[in-house]
Amino acid sequence: MKLTQPRVKNPELTLRIPGPDRKRNVAAYTYRVNYRAPDPRATGCVTTWDVGGGRLPYQVALERTEAGLLRWHCSCADAVYRGERLQHYHCKHVAGLLDCLPAMD
Ligand SMILES: [Zn+2]
Repeated sequence: MKLTQPRVKNPELTLRIPGPDRKRNVAAYTYRVNYRAPDPRATGCVTTWDVGGGRLPYQVALERTEAGLLRWHCSCADAVYRGERLQHYHCKHVAGLLDCLPAMD
């Protein structure tokens, strides 16, 4: 597949978000893109990130639904448990990423 513009192979960003310790001291988390859909407007997985720096490695994914809405997923326990019950809940890994991304539709 030919890309229309050059892309960094594994773009990485570091965010300072509440850490994994009990006091939630701010810690550095690295986000590495490991998948980007060739057409970000297509239905399905748009982008996935591997998140390091926490107690465990996590994966954050952005999905475009058939209705065209964007839905965030994270593999952390907080996202799994609270995200199931609260429709618009974002765990700290997703919230940190949202804070530094441009508005998307
Ligand atoms: Zn999370």
